[in-house]
Amino acid sequence: MISAGRWAAGPRVVAALAVLTCVPLQLARTDAPSEPPTLPRESRVPGGIAILDLGAGERSPGDVIFNDHRAPVLRRPEGWVALVGIPLDASPGPHAALLRPANDAPARRLAFTVAPKKYDEQRLKVAEKRHVDPLREDLERIARERVRIDAALGHYSTEFTPQFALQPPVPGRRSSSFGLRRFFNDQPRNPHTGMDIAAATGTPIVSPAPGRVLDTGDFFFNGNTVFVDHGLGVVTIYCHLDRIDVKAGDTVDTGTPLGQVGATGRVTGAHLHWGVAVNRALVDPALFLPEER
Ligand SMILES: [Zn+2]
Repeated sequence: MISAGRWAAGPRVVAALAVLTCVPLQLARTDAPSEPPTLPRESRVPGGIAILDLGAGERSPGDVIFNDHRAPVLRRPEGWVALVGIPLDASPGPHAALLRPANDAPARRLAFTVAPKKYDEQRLKVAEKRHVDPLREDLERIARERVRIDAALGHYSTEFTPQFALQPPVPGRRSSSFGLRRFFNDQPRNPHTGMDIAAATGTPIVSPAPGRVLDTGDFFFNGNTVFVDHGLGVVTIYCHLDRIDVKAGDTVDTGTPLGQVGATGRVTGAHLHWGVAVNRALVDPALFLPEER
């Protein structure tokens, strides 16, 4: 658990970065990558990712903003691209991200179309009634935690250039549970914004990419939770842990243990809930993993 003071520094850091719209550090890093960053699979649906072509050139074309959050801009051998995370609640139809050039050139709309996708329903029985109908004191806690979760998922840093081809954080059977429209004890609740991976309590969870731990804590619905920043607006979240093995500020590498699988928070049994946010939008983690055969 981190102190409130430490957490309060987060938004100020983000604000400071936002002022430096053409961050020279970022240009230095992305102008001369040793390996071109890998890309996720593209899927222009709610909960998917749009890969937008920004053209060739030596210098970064600028910042790309979608839903008030900066999207990752990467240099590939074929040119610059923006990876735009599309939230689950995005309406199908025309959308546009905004390209803000680093020079004084006017901003440019990057139009794309979101195709409809109908996710299945899921009905779950939760033994702890309070996790379905929270008490008044729980609602205050939930509201506080929502602010904290929002800050972590919306974090943007230029510390890392993310890779988008990831290994699963735990071995185990992946469910295709992302996007499910959920009913807990027959009551409609928010859709499922991550991937559940079945694994026994105590199974080690490892970071699927380099990054820095943004926050950890015990959350009402998510149980013991870890947030990891991978840079350029890519943040991963790990929920329901039995044990947390890292703390805010820790740097992690691919394979660094983050904690152990558990059944804390609103769960029906032990599993890892894994989420991936891109420009604050929680998108389908399966887009980053090798395809299962
Ligand atoms: Zn889940």
